[in-house]
Formats: sequence, C-alpha cells, structure tokens
Amino acid sequence: MARSFVLKRESAPIPLVHYQIPYAEHLNPQQLAVVEAPNGPALVIAGAGTGKTRTLIYRLARLVESGVPPEEIVLLTFTRRAAREMLNRATVLLDGRCEGIKGGTFHGFCLSVLQRYAQQIGFPVRFSVLDAADAADVVDLLRTQQGFHQSKTRFPKKDTLYHLFSASINRQKDIPQLLAQEFPQYAKHETEILTLYKAYDQYKQKHGLMDYDDLLVRTLQLFEAHPTIRYEVCARIRHVLVDEFQDTNKLQGDLVAAFASVHGNVMAVGDDAQSIYAFRGANFQNIMGFPKRFAGTTLYKLEENYRSTPPILQLANHVLSQAHERYEKELFSRRDGGELPAIVQAPDDRFQSRFVCQMVLQLREEGIPLNEMAVLFRNGRDSYDLELELARCNIPFVKYGGLKLNDAAHIKDVLAHLKIVENPLDAVAWQRVLMLLKGIGPKTAQELIQWILTTDKPYDFDSLQPFKKHVGQLRSLALLLQDLRKGERLASSQVSDVIHYYGPILERVHPDDTEKRRQDLEHFVGIAANFVTRGDLLRALALDPIERSTVEVEAIQKDEIPLVLSTIHSAKGLEYQAVFVIQVLEGVLPSAYALNRRSALDEERRLLYVALTRAKDYLFVSHSVLGYQRSFGGEYFTKPSRFIQDIPEHLAEPWQLVESSPSNNELSTGDPYLSLPSSS
Ligand code: ATP
Ligand code: MG
Repeated sequence: MARSFVLKRESAPIPLVHYQIPYAEHLNPQQLAVVEAPNGPALVIAGAGTGKTRTLIYRLARLVESGVPPEEIVLLTFTRRAAREMLNRATVLLDGRCEGIKGGTFHGFCLSVLQRYAQQIGFPVRFSVLDAADAADVVDLLRTQQGFHQSKTRFPKKDTLYHLFSASINRQKDIPQLLAQEFPQYAKHETEILTLYKAYDQYKQKHGLMDYDDLLVRTLQLFEAHPTIRYEVCARIRHVLVDEFQDTNKLQGDLVAAFASVHGNVMAVGDDAQSIYAFRGANFQNIMGFPKRFAGTTLYKLEENYRSTPPILQLANHVLSQAHERYEKELFSRRDGGELPAIVQAPDDRFQSRFVCQMVLQLREEGIPLNEMAVLFRNGRDSYDLELELARCNIPFVKYGGLKLNDAAHIKDVLAHLKIVENPLDAVAWQRVLMLLKGIGPKTAQELIQWILTTDKPYDFDSLQPFKKHVGQLRSLALLLQDLRKGERLASSQVSDVIHYYGPILERVHPDDTEKRRQDLEHFVGIAANFVTRGDLLRALALDPIERSTVEVEAIQKDEIPLVLSTIHSAKGLEYQAVFVIQVLEGVLPSAYALNRRSALDEERRLLYVALTRAKDYLFVSHSVLGYQRSFGGEYFTKPSRFIQDIPEHLAEPWQLVESSPSNNELSTGDPYLSLPSSS
C-alpha cells in the first residue's frame, strides 16, 4: 500500500561543538555564511573562481564536525574525478573523518540505488549498464531485426537514433517534436522510429540492460512506484550537496528533490553564466525554480574571484557581456597585477602548434610545472596537430575528453566476454563474442543467441547439433566462460584469462597492429587491478570510461607530470596557471552547428567564457589563418571566431607569429624559430 511521507525536519537543538578547522581564517565572510548555513534548502549562485567548490568542501567538513554521520552526506557533481578530488580535499582538512561521505555523479549514485532495488522494477540484480556505443549497437540490432535497414528512403543510422532517443528523455521533448525541429529529413519515418523506440525499451527490460538515461529514469520510477523504498533510501541522505548545478537537467533536478524529500537539507551551487550543457538537456529552470521548489530557500552570493588576475577577468567579462542573453555578472578579482592576455594569430595550424610548444617550454623554464598548464579546445580533434608537435618536442601530455580506451575494438571484445558472464541475457555482448569466432556471421550468431537465451545452461555448447562445424571453437569459449564463473575471482585475473583466450583472435582480426593492441590489453590488466569484482569493473568502466591517452602517457612518461590537453567541456571547474585556448575559429568555436541559432550561439560563447576563466596567470587565445581539412580538399582560409573579433587592445594584446632566425631565440629545438611576441 502506498504511503505518503512528510518532511522530517530536525528540531533538536544543535549541540555545542568545538570546531577544529579555523573556518573564518580560510574563507571570506560570504563563503563562511554558506559553510555555516542552518539546515534546510540553500542555493549559491556565483561566478567562476569565486570559491563555490572550495566552499562546498568546507561545508562537507563542517557538517561532519557538527556530528552528521559522513555516510549520510551525499555529494553530487559532474564527473567522478571531480567528486573524488573534492572528497580528498575534505578528507585532508579533517584528518580522514570525511572519508565515508558518498560522492559521485548522479548516474553513479543512481546505479548504487538500483543495484539494491532493481528487482522491484523488473530487472535482474546483475543488470548490465550500456555505454553510448553499446546502446547504439542495441538500437542497430533492432533496426535490422525490424527490417528498417532495407528502407527505400534513407533511414537514420544507429547513432542518430540513439541520440534522438536520449535527447527525447533528457530534454523532455517527444520524438515527433524533435524530428520536426532537428531532423526534418527523417520526419517521414516517424512511425517506424516510434516503433523502434518502443522496441528498444522493451528489449532492454527483457535482457536486463540499462543505458545511461535509464539509470536516472528508472531510479525516479522506482521511487514513484515504491514510496517506501524512496523513504528508505532518502532517510539515509541527511544532506545532499550539488556542485555545477547549472548543468543538471530536469531528471537530475527531480532526483535532487527526491533525495532531499525526507530531511529537506539540500545545498546547490552553480553559475548560470557557465551553463554549457543545454544541448544535452541542462535546464535553466533548475536554478530559477529552486526557491519555488524548495520552500524556505536561502540564497547566497559569492562575489570575489580568487583565481584569475584582473586582466584575465576583464577579458572574460567582456566576452560574456556580448551575449544576446544578458548576464548581470561582472567578476572582480581579489588579486592584482597580471599580464594582458594575448590573442595570437598564427599563419597556419603548424605554426600554432609550434607556438604552444615553445611557449610551454618557456613557461616551464620559468618554473611553471607542466601540469599547471592546459591547452583547451572545442572538439577532441582540434588538438591532433598539436599532439604531433608535442611528441616531437618530447613534451608529455595527457588528454581529456578525447577517445576513450573502452571505445577501442579490442578492449570492447575483451569486455564483452566478461559481460556475458555477468549477465547471460546481454545479447549484444553475446553477438560480439560469437562473431569473433571463425566462420560465424551475424545470422549464425543470432541463431546461437536464440538458443542461449532460452536454455538454462548458456555455457554448454556441446549439445548444439545444428552448429556442429563450430563446436570446437564453441567448446573452448565455453571452457573460458565456465572458468570465469567459478567462485569470486579477482577482476584482474579474469581479464588476464580472457586476454589469454583472445590472443589468437587478436592476431587474426587485427593483423596490422597486433602489437600495439596487445600492449593496450596489458595496461588494461593493470587498470582492472583497481577493482575487486568483475561487476565493479564493468560498471565503473561503463560510467567513467578511461581516457585513452591517460593510459598511453602513464606507460611512456613517468619522469614529469604531463601537460593537460582537454576539451573545454572536460575542463569545467578546473584551473591552471597558464591556459592556451586554441582553434578559436568561426565554425569551430562557435561550432558550425550553432551558427544560426541564438541560444546555441550563446551557449558557445559561454563555453569560451568557461575556457577563459580557467586561467590564473597567463592566457593565450589563438587561431590560425590557414586551416587544413582533407574533406575540404586541403588548405582553406579560416576566420577568427566572432567572439574574439574587435576585442579592444586594452583588454588583450594582439600577437602575430612570424618566423625568425635561430640566433634571436634562446630556445633551441633545431627548428626555424617563431618570434614571440611581435605585438602590433
Ligand atoms: P568554477 O566556477 O570555475 O567552478 P569555483 O567558484 O568553484 O569556480 P573554486 O575552484 O572553488 O571556484 O576556487 C577558485 C580558486 O580560488 C581556488 O584555487 C580556491 O582555492 C581559491 N579560493 C577561493 N576562495 C578562497 C579564499 N577565501 N581564500 C583563498 N583562496 C580561495
Ligand atoms: Mg567549481
């Protein structure tokens, strides 16, 4: 029977506590007020670098010092990396006492809830989590099954379809509406697409699969269908704190409300001027509607920027002030001095890359460690040229937001074996595993899967008469799977076994670069060693894919902590002494897709604002005059981004790169030199 619950407000007097941390010395009065806020809902809206994240960290420590059990505090933020970093800092502040705080992403936290209660909504305990590529594969399977691949007119491909389904959930728009607005070319297939959407949903349920969106949606469904479970879960969340609140969407907003539904203690911090995920459904209403949703909200402001020098902030303020949507936001720096940012024009991409390398080496000589410098860009591909140059100059780097290790075919192959052991209903993983066998194509694989899904002995292929000619291969696969199922073996030992079995397949399937892939697999065993069980490993990888270059860099360079390369989206919330924003071009930033929509253009502008406000001391914004793109037939003239055109010279110094002779320059890389700077 459904019961309803009233908000449980603590009325007991707060005991007198002697605080160990001298909060007033570490925080300004506005920040201190947030840290000492009484129970109840609180919203902190403040600009970049004003200490929002720092304040939340002190708030965590303060709550623990006040006697709140750490395991009853939940910290939600955008990446696991960010959450871990915040918890580490809180732990250091308070001699380890904050260690028990639960922290992570919305997806991660929902996963932990669903792992306990999945059966209540008709899922197996060991359901699988699909990453975006897996999810698109499921869609593809159904697309073929339904015969849409034979459509006479162009039918959307798997990635487009998955994107559409996900957008519909995250942006809360129905599919016909999205089709009409964004994919009018596919509008005539509306009925088929809706059929597919339904089939996708049913398929996931039947096979115990959840994609990213399901983690949020199903948690909300669980809470709605089972108020007692909601109460049970949320009664253990005495405080919920959310960083980067501006980038949450409607579902996440609803989850926050649910999490706070028993104790009513919710603190959200964010900056509307840094909202960069509207394209994925981030919803402004979460901030605007917060005080209405949580009656009795106290609003807090933080106004001083501790991060950047005044010239950097002035440039960032200027860029933001040109937005169509007005922001009443003028950040003031606590710091003084500082050099003017530079707007650097390079004749072509190569020059731009050489400039960055040379400048990085120069700043390193001046004492700035490599990992205190970051090169930021709009898309993962914008740094390809630079990566070559960095390698040539022997500068180690790590790249965030680029290719993920688990997107690589060989890693996916290995993972698929673990997945079918974890969840024998995972037909997509079965398909991948079976098709690695010699002579087995999609049709045979499908027939085998039909049999596997209906038998109670899915790993016993001996009785498979119709597949007699494959029986030898199937038997060795069965042996592997049976071994993996035995007892609770460590994740890394299971990965090693799969790699051993997979060795000959690797040679056959990837004859050209077997060695490089084998090395990847070796590293992968090391990664698996961080997890105890197979399930832990699979879920962690699905939620938090490993950046490919992190692994490569670790393997190659251990002598110096590497330079950071990152997409702007992945640099959110972080800061560096020196920041280079490269490829600031029309069609790149703003992206070509945003050019004719005002709101999208504003989002691109905020993206540049986020990039600029990452810098503490040095800021270089660069673009090249000549670009190169094979699909354009080679070189073409580019235009600097509209966001950096007509910037007054008192805000940024224009630099033009020119070639000069080696004797002018102290650095020696054996190259013709760039002269820096040659201001106008
Ligand atoms: P963003 O919007 O980019 O996420 P933020 O508002 O979260 O920024 P923080 O990252 O918390 O800002 O802080 C920016 C920098 O300022 C950090 O290096 C932080 O340690 C420093 N800082 C903030 N407040 C203070 C303070 N009261 N005293 C000294 N340093 C501070
Ligand atoms: Mg922050």
